[in-house]
Amino acid sequence: MPSRILANFLNENLEALKKQGLYNVIDPLEGANGPVIQIAGKPFINLSSNNYLGLATDKRLIEASIEATKKYGVGAGAVRTINGTQTAHVELEEKLAEFKHTEAAIAFQSGFNCNMGAISAVMDQHDAILSDELNHASIIDGCRLSRAKVIRYNHSDMADLRHKAQEAKASGLYQKIMVITDGVFSMDGDIAKLPEIVKIAEAFDLITYVDDAHGSGVLGEGAGTVKHFGLSDRIDFQIGTLSKAIGVVGGYVAGKRDLVDWLKVRSRPFLFSTSLTPGSAAACVKAIEILLESNELQKRLWENGDYLKNGLKQLGFNIGQSETPITPCIIGEEVLTQNFSKQLYADGVYAKAIVFPTVPKGTGRIRNMPTAAHTREMLDEALSVYEKVGKALKII
Ligand SMILES: *Cc1c(COP(=O)(O)O)cnc(C)c1O
Repeated sequence: MPSRILANFLNENLEALKKQGLYNVIDPLEGANGPVIQIAGKPFINLSSNNYLGLATDKRLIEASIEATKKYGVGAGAVRTINGTQTAHVELEEKLAEFKHTEAAIAFQSGFNCNMGAISAVMDQHDAILSDELNHASIIDGCRLSRAKVIRYNHSDMADLRHKAQEAKASGLYQKIMVITDGVFSMDGDIAKLPEIVKIAEAFDLITYVDDAHGSGVLGEGAGTVKHFGLSDRIDFQIGTLSKAIGVVGGYVAGKRDLVDWLKVRSRPFLFSTSLTPGSAAACVKAIEILLESNELQKRLWENGDYLKNGLKQLGFNIGQSETPITPCIIGEEVLTQNFSKQLYADGVYAKAIVFPTVPKGTGRIRNMPTAAHTREMLDEALSVYEKVGKALKII
């Protein structure tokens, strides 16, 4: 007999979400996640992906993935520590270390499970973690899993971080203390104040952990936020994802050799979950080779980001304080924001509304993510739809 308690729980909660307009319906794409996507037979200009450099559909990556699949098979066949480590995985880790300017790197199946595995491999109930209040969900969950005391500090507030670091250190309660931050914050596009974070970390003996999911391939000539600030040898953990700018799937930690060796014996997704597919590993290697060879894609990404930002600003929209190509368009009230996104959709622009609780109440926004693969014509078309909808809803 299926559980009645479960059935009631699901029914009540799904209904409640639908009533509040918070139930998310997922639109499957009928093809690749490129600058133009197709949904239900209709094309849309896509401003919602994290495929920053357009590499998800790059022919060179597709070719590398096919070649590796022919050579190694479609699946790795085991976890990394048994016999799921293929030379494709080793090559990927060597390339990642080169890309990040570190001694070594370890690859995971996703950025999310990288944070699940890496934090709890080092931190435990005798420790404390200072965590920016806007850190990504996978960091929050990774911290919880470690059972360390989590101390949140106000977003990018260095006085608050310093104060809380000092308090934690002086309390004598903790064996190790770590500070964790996103490199680039995904909802506002602002950059973490890493030079100050490093100074505070050095003053209070903190372990430093930077999740650069949105900075890699975007800042620091591609190498990310840590390199952007010239701090490659002063951050203990550099986390990245292979699913955003790199365009494939996977996650990694780059750092000292000993750290990577330890993660290989202690991080649970590495030990107990099957390895990345060899095709994915090979496609990632190709992506990193492309980034190491040329800054062309980054340049195009930034040009497109600046173009979209300027266009929206000139139309009279509030685009916040982004320091990266992430381009929020802040609408404000939640229902109006949802409505705005629906109107964009009706006119062929796919740009999702982000509202409370993902961002604070009253700061509902459309999060626009132009990529290197967008053409000027696509961005102009998107801007003209923005103008039409903005005027119709009396926002501009
Ligand atoms: C997207 C994201 C992740 C998760 O990465 P996946 O590879 O998609 O699992 C982790 N951390 C941050 C900061 C992210 O933005």
